[in-house]
Amino acid sequence: MLNKKSVEDLQVSGKRVLVRCDFNVPMDELRNITDDRRITSALPTIKYLIENDAKIILMSHLGRPKGEPNPKYSLEPVAKRLSTLLGKQVTFAKDDKVVSENVKKIVDNMKPGDVVLLENTRYRKEEEKNGDEFAKELASLGELYVNDAFGTSHRSHASNVGVSKYLPSSVGFLVKKEIDVMGKALENPERPFVAILGGAKVSDKIGVIENLLEKVDTILIGGGMAYTFLKAKGYNIGNSLLEEDKVELAKSLMKSAEDKGVKLLLSTDIVVGKEFKNDTEFKTVKADSIPDDMMGLDIGEETIKLFSEEIKNAKTVVWNGPMGVFEMENFKKGTNAIAKALADSKAITIVGGGDSASAVEKAGYGSVITHISTGGGASLEFLEGKELPGIAAIDNK
Ligand code: AMP
Repeated sequence: MLNKKSVEDLQVSGKRVLVRCDFNVPMDELRNITDDRRITSALPTIKYLIENDAKIILMSHLGRPKGEPNPKYSLEPVAKRLSTLLGKQVTFAKDDKVVSENVKKIVDNMKPGDVVLLENTRYRKEEEKNGDEFAKELASLGELYVNDAFGTSHRSHASNVGVSKYLPSSVGFLVKKEIDVMGKALENPERPFVAILGGAKVSDKIGVIENLLEKVDTILIGGGMAYTFLKAKGYNIGNSLLEEDKVELAKSLMKSAEDKGVKLLLSTDIVVGKEFKNDTEFKTVKADSIPDDMMGLDIGEETIKLFSEEIKNAKTVVWNGPMGVFEMENFKKGTNAIAKALADSKAITIVGGGDSASAVEKAGYGSVITHISTGGGASLEFLEGKELPGIAAIDNK
């Protein structure tokens, strides 16, 4: 969609290609990788570069080592997993300074098709400040630069934005897919276009709602954020999550939807519980009848039907944010039902990163969704219509 160079537009044969990936994978206490999706999603670009005889130098951050070396955040386990996935050796350029004479030597000795992974870029405090010196050091290792880390594209750091100043650049296949699929949905969607928004807070999603109101035919709102809207409608919401200072905004968003002819639907029935815990007493009530001493924890069956019907009739669906407290067994039904409705739909289905993405994967629907974004924050900012610095920095075609 965007007019950015793709890795296929670069002459990579025999060249040292620096690739920013998002290998920020979850690990257990023993540093075993518990979910390697972020690594597997980077494979198409890495394999393409191997097949085309590039020398591949990978870089990524992992967790928050706060600008200091810390073995807890070393990328070593990622190098091992990547070796297994690629079926070839990935050299881990272990170095607390990330770039050093030693690392340069390793890179100088690379042969076409070789893969090297640098140490966690956040071992250096300049990384998150987009420090120019560090960007230059990283850039000095490569001759070309590829950004394939969508998850960090909303940040302006040395390893994604800084390096692009010094090298011819392009996006990798993962970033290309993210911006093509989401870009098309936003710019030229097949209609009806339905957005489903949930999650804890209205305040996190204001920008998304405002931008989507200009583009969609229908917005379905569930999750914790729905109660501020129900309150704005004048309903009693008991002890449900409320952002008091956003009630007026919720009113004006509903008015704006009406003015634009966008159908904005809220939950019509709610699963309410006494306390914020799984084994609390719970029942389903009408949205306008939440008891004073109870709180909304999920959407009810009637709302599931209502939302699923809208999804069934849609040609493009974007979903971001769970419909209830899906971490608790008793209150995950709404979120799972929406995941199923997306899986059953023939529409182009796009799931924003984070909680909704993991709900879809956990329910086993990952393979039947058109696109599951690898970036939580980045996909939200994309849906807000913001320019992502990590993508803006890449050379145009
Ligand atoms: P977010 O990070 O904004 O996407 O919000 C995700 C969180 O919202 C999850 O941890 C959910 O448990 C939480 N959530 C969803 N629905 C509710 C609700 N009705 N009450 C409280 N929290 C909720």
